[in-house]
Amino acid sequence: MIPLAVPDLTGRESEYLAECIETTFVSSVGPFVERLETMVAAAAGSRFAVATASGTSALHMSLLAVGVGRNDLVIMPSYTFVASANAVRHAGADPWLLDVSPESWTLDPAGLAHALRGDCTVSDHTVIHRGTGRRVSAVMPVYTAGHPADMDALNEVAASYGLPVVSDAAAAIGATYRGRALGPLARVSAFSFNGNKTITSGGGGAVVTDDEAVATRIRHVSTTARRGPGYVHDEVGYNYRMTNLQAAVGVAQLERMDSLVAAKRRIAETYAEAFSTLVEAFPHAAWAQSSDWMSGIVLPADASKNVDEVVAELQSEGVDGRGFWVPMHHQPPYANCLRSDLTVTDSFAGRVLTLPCSSALASHEQDRVIDAVTRAMRTWQS
Ligand SMILES: *Cc1c(COP(=O)(O)O)cnc(C)c1O
Repeated sequence: MIPLAVPDLTGRESEYLAECIETTFVSSVGPFVERLETMVAAAAGSRFAVATASGTSALHMSLLAVGVGRNDLVIMPSYTFVASANAVRHAGADPWLLDVSPESWTLDPAGLAHALRGDCTVSDHTVIHRGTGRRVSAVMPVYTAGHPADMDALNEVAASYGLPVVSDAAAAIGATYRGRALGPLARVSAFSFNGNKTITSGGGGAVVTDDEAVATRIRHVSTTARRGPGYVHDEVGYNYRMTNLQAAVGVAQLERMDSLVAAKRRIAETYAEAFSTLVEAFPHAAWAQSSDWMSGIVLPADASKNVDEVVAELQSEGVDGRGFWVPMHHQPPYANCLRSDLTVTDSFAGRVLTLPCSSALASHEQDRVIDAVTRAMRTWQS
């Protein structure tokens, strides 16, 4: 079976792990954690990075640090991985689900402006959603499958309402927006280094920001809010720090970031070219250079087969294709969330098929995937 996305651990991962064991630095204090933070900050073009236990905890800490609190609303796209919505709930708030734009599958700036103008009132520097009386406290774009959102446009709208922007950049390390690095595009951004991401630390994440107060607060709260060397903790804290073991793997991966991301981009481009006359690939807006974490296609609306049927067909040929994200408004815990028009999301989300895209995917393997998909296409078009 050609797997969907498996890590490439052929760098110095095992050497660095052995170093952790030999030095007994296996916990959250250790030189690899600091090295990882320095490397992630540099990769994002940010002043500060704080390593965390996961992408989800990085998002949770980011939301707390910009002041998201109990009963607030956080504007986010319905089209995302469930962790984005989970982090909003972990912070005590609820998602307000908006649509994405078809050119990028990321939060639509016009939709954001429309929702804020039409449904909210600003009083005393606070944005209130009129229908529910609840405070809107942040906007959280998601860089879908590593594709940045249209941040200039989103920031302009958010700034005009005084709303902080927290980006779910989970899979986007290595991407750029209008030639610029990701970090400075939002007040805080969160990365994931989960096992299936382009850069992995097994499990883990990081927050990047240029705001020293935000970085300091996240470091503090994610380390049990301990006030000093003693056992005094000045607020409810979290045990959300990355361990030196995880960071050892992450550092070895980050050393090869350029080539791992380049491989992902090459794979995405090869699929896009192979299928260009037959079917749509994942979108790429002119203003962004995606990290191409995931590659795939969108089945035509009139295809005679659905994604599950095509997945079964591919699997029977030893190709691990999969469906992709189920929008949040179709997920049991989030089905009752406040939502605006989601026409674009509902128009494509059920037709997305991800294809094998491990950074070490060999070209003869990718040819096999392309052949299998081409055969499946003949049957869904007839
Ligand atoms: C992977 C991912 C996350 C979650 O990261 P974890 O490290 O698994 O907690 C969040 N958001 C998006 C968009 C992701 O792709």
